[in-house]
Amino acid sequence: MELKQIRPETTENLDGCPDPAGRSLVAGKVDLKGLDEAEMVSMCEELGEPAYRGRQLFSWIYGKRAPSFEGMTNLSKPFRERLAERARVGVLAPERLEEGADGTGKFVWRLGDGEHIESVRIPMPGREGEKRWALCISTQVGCAMGCTFCLTAKMGFVRQLSAGEIVEQYLAAARRLPEGEHFRNVVFMGMGEPLDNFGPTVKAARLLIHPNGVALSPRRLTVSTVGITPRLKEFIEAVPGVGLAVSLHAADEETRSRIVPVNRKWGMADLLRACRELSAHERRRITFEYVLLKGLNDSPEDARRLAARLQGVRCKINLLPWNPFEGGSFERPSESRVEGFRAVLAAQGYIATVRQSRGLDIRAACGQLVDDVKMAERAGKVRRSTPAPMR
Ligand code: SAH
Repeated sequence: MELKQIRPETTENLDGCPDPAGRSLVAGKVDLKGLDEAEMVSMCEELGEPAYRGRQLFSWIYGKRAPSFEGMTNLSKPFRERLAERARVGVLAPERLEEGADGTGKFVWRLGDGEHIESVRIPMPGREGEKRWALCISTQVGCAMGCTFCLTAKMGFVRQLSAGEIVEQYLAAARRLPEGEHFRNVVFMGMGEPLDNFGPTVKAARLLIHPNGVALSPRRLTVSTVGITPRLKEFIEAVPGVGLAVSLHAADEETRSRIVPVNRKWGMADLLRACRELSAHERRRITFEYVLLKGLNDSPEDARRLAARLQGVRCKINLLPWNPFEGGSFERPSESRVEGFRAVLAAQGYIATVRQSRGLDIRAACGQLVDDVKMAERAGKVRRSTPAPMR
């Protein structure tokens, strides 16, 4: 594993006010990252500027990924100064980038209040001479869903991320890609449950697909949810065209309730009914994620039951052999067992793929994201004031 210190950009989040501790010197200012176009327009109007200034500002922030006010050359200096009194450009302070042997990179970001979140960039196969990546971003600090096989769940829920903190993970990571490389896909699959942070997740998704901003194609953005059934339809209506991945992980209610506790509240039968309706109505293919846990849900019989339950849902199935972590009480099934499971689904006519575990050595794989300091704190090992190491 290679550990790189990210070059500190003191002007990035503090707009010219260096603060080595990364905490905000400008508390009380509005974070521009996270404002939509209409909000930027009205802010500019309040400052006595015409509406088109707001649109220019929007394009600087999201389209050109400006790290500060300084380079916004088509805005006058006095206006930029007035803006800087009211607002700041971002809140994430880069802490480090850990790079795994397979090219996966895990960004650790420090938030304004000292909490930490992670985003993961994963190399994707591309044409000769073209380098493209997928970016996996977080929607909460920790998670409240309690899935028994997930490390983030062990951390518990700490707080919601703002829309700005969600989008900025993309902007800050994209700015750090070498010339000519780009993020082809973005997934909300990092720490947290996106639909448990509904408003900011919707706003962040809209900001990422806005044509005057990042302009990501909606089908290149996927939101992964544990399956908060009453919010699924609402989410799809709020951001049409965005991909949906649902974490199913079992073929029957009882097994699912054991490993995904929210199944007791929003059961599998209702969840699948909602998915069936969505997939028919929206003519979209839903991705089902299925973590394979040895001896628990990985038998050929489980695969057959799963195939039967998914009948009538336009879908594909993504199999995730469990990624181990210290203290985890499951086992990863053998490759042949995984392949056997996949083959049963394929024989029933389903598109089923096995997700490669990327970044296992840097704990960047699915369900391995966690703030170590917070975990230790929860376990009563360290006191609150212990800073995360900057290496
Ligand atoms: N809250 C969202 C995002 C979770 S992370 C959701 O539930 O979908 C993305 C995927 O990784 C989810 O399907 C999650 O269940 C799965 N996952 C969590 N821990 C894992 C682990 N240790 N090994 C493999 N997959 C895991």
